[in-house]
This record gives sequence, structure tokens and C-alpha cells, in this order.
Amino acid sequence: MKKAYGYDDVLIVPQFSDIKSRGECSTRTRLPKLDLKIPVIAANMDTICSVKMARKMHELGGLGIIHRYMKVTQTHNIMEDWDEADGKLVLSVGSIHQDQRRIDVILKKAHAGADLGICIDIAHGDSQHMLDTLNYLRDNNFSGLIIAGNVCTYYGAMRLFDNGADIVKVGVGPGSACTTRIKTGCGFPQLCAVEDCAKAGPIIADGGIRYYGDAAKALAVGADAVMLGGMLAGTDCTPEWKDTSSKLEFRGMASRAARKSCGGDAKNAEGVSVMLPALPEGSTEEIIDELMEGIKSAMSYSGCRTLKEFRLKSQIILTTSSIMKENSPHIIT
Ligand code: 5GP
Repeated sequence: MKKAYGYDDVLIVPQFSDIKSRGECSTRTRLPKLDLKIPVIAANMDTICSVKMARKMHELGGLGIIHRYMKVTQTHNIMEDWDEADGKLVLSVGSIHQDQRRIDVILKKAHAGADLGICIDIAHGDSQHMLDTLNYLRDNNFSGLIIAGNVCTYYGAMRLFDNGADIVKVGVGPGSACTTRIKTGCGFPQLCAVEDCAKAGPIIADGGIRYYGDAAKALAVGADAVMLGGMLAGTDCTPEWKDTSSKLEFRGMASRAARKSCGGDAKNAEGVSVMLPALPEGSTEEIIDELMEGIKSAMSYSGCRTLKEFRLKSQIILTTSSIMKENSPHIIT
């Protein structure tokens, strides 16, 4: 049996560095049909990313993908209200078998000249449903950005690239609100999933980023960008946030609560719903700023000025599970 590892199982080995300040490190990421100043994407979850978050992420140099639990009219309105200055609009959709009406409305707008991206969001992305959806986009001459996921194996990623995906989203089961692994026993440790899939083409490491250092580890093993759900939960650019909020809901897209809200099947839920304190660690911007400081610091520990260099030069060491005690603050008071 092969072994595979998650973020907690490794560390990035510090190497000689002639970098004098983190300011020398560039986090620019050029992906097919997408150029990002920071390699960070807000998750297409209904408690994380709608228009406000997508605009904020663009302002910060990253991307926010609009979630898919909405009606056709809402999708239409978002596209109408979106300004080119807001950056590229990327909308998440389900499979063609579930979500054809929304897909058609997006295709219509794209054919009318709008610069749109589509993110096909299927829990098991290495599936016929995914291939049918990719084929539908191709048959309908969609030439915009296509992000497809989620997969967790090299061949799964390859299949999506071969069928027209520009970028593949990687992660089965690592998400903070996800119960897939305990309910089904299926998944793949995220660090190795990212490393394997990155060999197939440009990828987004989606799910399981609990610490800023996890994002650095994902980029070191080959991710082109990281996607954040739980880390942005409860922050001021999430859809339900109000000045007066003290707690906010964060829920898996496959949770009973989320599925019910869009009239879907609440059975076989593979996600949880929790109430979190508002602004747990800071505002959306503060969290992204701190994350970027962490990533740039990691680059400078490896003596790397670009993410490409970081991916090539960084060295990863496997640790034992007991190292998590040493890794976290452990002063006895
Ligand atoms: P996080 O950053 O919170 O660890 O992970 C976010 C990712 O978890 C999302 O982008 C998505 O891929 C995944 N996810 C979101 N909701 C669910 C769910 O209900 N079930 C599962 N299996 N994964 C989910």
C-alpha cells in the first residue's frame, strides 16, 4: 500500500537565503486565462463567497468564486451588476444534469461578450457527470476560463485537463466542514493529492488550510493557488455579515442545511454546519494580509523570490506525528 501525507506531516526545510526583506518576494501567479497578484481564492461556498467577497478578493489581488446555490434570476442579476473593474467574474455551477438552466444563462452572457469564468463544482469530480459538463461547455463553444473539480489523483486531474479544464481544483475530504472521509472512508491526504495532481497541470489546492503555513506547504509542493473556506468564515466580506453580527453560520455545501436552502436533497449529507464568532481572527483583509506575510516568509526561508522558484527549490521533510506539539506554542504557564 502506498503512503500519503497531509499538511501536518511535513515541514519546509529552511535553506540559505540572501533575501533581505519579504518585500523582495513576488507572489504573482500566472494561470491559464487568469493572472493573480496573490495565489489565494475564496471558496465557492454559500457562507463564504458571493459578490462582496469576490470584489474584495479581486481588490486584494486574488479571486473569489461565486457559490452555486442560487436561482437562475440571481445568477443573471449578478452578471448584470458586475463591473469589469471588479475583475474576472467566476461563477460556480453544478453538473449539466443538475444545473443546466444556470449554465445556459451564463453561456448566453459569455456569448454576448462578457469575460466570464465557470467553475464546475462536483464533489467527485473524476466522474462521467463532470465529463458530460465539460463536453457541454465545449459543444456550446465556451471559450472562457474553466475550473473543474474536485479530484485527488493524478489521473483524475489529467482526465479533466484532457477534456477541456484550464485549471483543476484538488481536494477530496480535507475541508473544515466536510464529513466525506468519516462517512464514506474515501479521500486522499491533501498534501500528496496536491503534489500528485500538480504534475498534471495548473491546480488549486482546495480545503484543509488550517494555518497560514499550510498554504505555504501547498504552494511548495506544486499548487498554483490555494482555496480558503473555513479560514475566511465569519469575516466581514462573507455574505451574511453585518456590523452587528456576533455569530455567523459556516456550513459545508453538502451539509443538510445548505442543501435544504437551495431546495436540494438533504439526505446523505457530507458536511456540517456550525455557528462561529464574527471576525474570529480579524477582517477578511487582515486574514489575507497575514496569510500573505506567512507565504512570503516561507519563500524567504527557502531563499526564493518567486513562487515558481519556491516550487522548484523548496525542500519538504517528513516528520512524525508528535512534532505537532513542538510546532505549536507550548509554553507552560
Ligand atoms: P476549508 O478551507 O474550509 O478547509 O475547505 C473548503 C473546501 O471544502 C471547499 O472549497 C470545498 O471544496 C470543500 N467543501 C465545502 N463544503 C463541503 C461539504 O459539505 N462536504 C465536503 N466533502 N466538502 C466540502
